[in-house]
Amino acid sequence: MKRILILGSTGSIGINTLEVIKKFPDKFNIESLTVNSNIDLLEKQIYDFNPAKVVVKNVSKAKELKERVGNKCEVLSGEEGLIEITKDGNYEVLISALVGFAGLFPTIEAVKLGKRIALANKETLVVAGEIITDLVQKHNAEIIPVDSEHSAIFQCLVGEKVSEIRKLILTASGGPFFKLDEKEFKGVTITQALNHPNWDMGDKVTIDSATMMNKGLEVIEAHWLFNLPRKKIDVVVHPQSIIHSMVEFIDASIKAQLSTPDMKLPIQYALSYPERLESEFVETNFPQLEKLTFYEPDLTKFKCLKLAYDVLELGGTNPCILNAANEIAVDGFLKEKIKFNQIPDVISESLENIRNHTTLELGSIFECDESTRKFAQSFINKEY
Ligand code: MN
Repeated sequence: MKRILILGSTGSIGINTLEVIKKFPDKFNIESLTVNSNIDLLEKQIYDFNPAKVVVKNVSKAKELKERVGNKCEVLSGEEGLIEITKDGNYEVLISALVGFAGLFPTIEAVKLGKRIALANKETLVVAGEIITDLVQKHNAEIIPVDSEHSAIFQCLVGEKVSEIRKLILTASGGPFFKLDEKEFKGVTITQALNHPNWDMGDKVTIDSATMMNKGLEVIEAHWLFNLPRKKIDVVVHPQSIIHSMVEFIDASIKAQLSTPDMKLPIQYALSYPERLESEFVETNFPQLEKLTFYEPDLTKFKCLKLAYDVLELGGTNPCILNAANEIAVDGFLKEKIKFNQIPDVISESLENIRNHTTLELGSIFECDESTRKFAQSFINKEY
């Protein structure tokens, strides 16, 4: 029996994880759940899964929940609660599914305890890849990717040698605007941007998919997960999202992992690895698919993807600046403060104005994240 701690249980990954766990009550057991503020859904999850502890980040919501659930389970609150629950070590697998920079510090606590981390929070590796990978080695922790592309690559690499990889090929759906003319980007509405053709995800990652920043973050994530340079990581647009990614080996042989898109599959694999578990996920019917298509990503149109490639080459805290500015820009777009085409402008402006730190430590990353957010926010308020 594996005990599971989910950071972010009411988000899309959290909900899907609970659905997987429900199917295997003899294999997995929920130890703790954390949420930002959605206590209505958390309350339901408490009755369904009986966690020993929960954390509600929002302090007043935590109080409210405490009154509702009584002594059914322990309710902690705030950032301290998140750190406490990851530090206590009463779990075998941490599902790291918080959105954005917020996932970094609690994930580090689990790494330090040598736990298995099922990593859905790509920002953790984007901003602190070097620190995390060093800590993983030092503490003998294990990162199993939940992001579908990285799970695909991870699965392709079972039984293979990293030294025999020629390149990774990350597939991208292209998002809802793959075919839209760049001139139309200005007029893109929130509803259009949130309407992803293949995947049902949270707002932040859906907007990132529409700008293709998501793929950029994933290239950086792949760089750290598989320890390969930028030039060995390719992106190809594959609108059907059936091939989740591929690995080409030195003999020109290519392995791919395919399935009908469903986040539950990579989640289940991260929980069960090295084993596979029977599932009832939709099977793939090839004659019905008819064709799978592939295109080169357009870097002039999808400026965010180009920016992500650039910061990976630049290194230092540049990926952290890109990530923080992107979080603020996406939030600005969702609050109708900026237009869709202005998202990359906020990011490049931040990259030009925030000082890069070449020596990476958690302190400088934290400081860089904060100053970038401040800058990006005031830039938006001033310019738009
Ligand atoms: Mn992905």
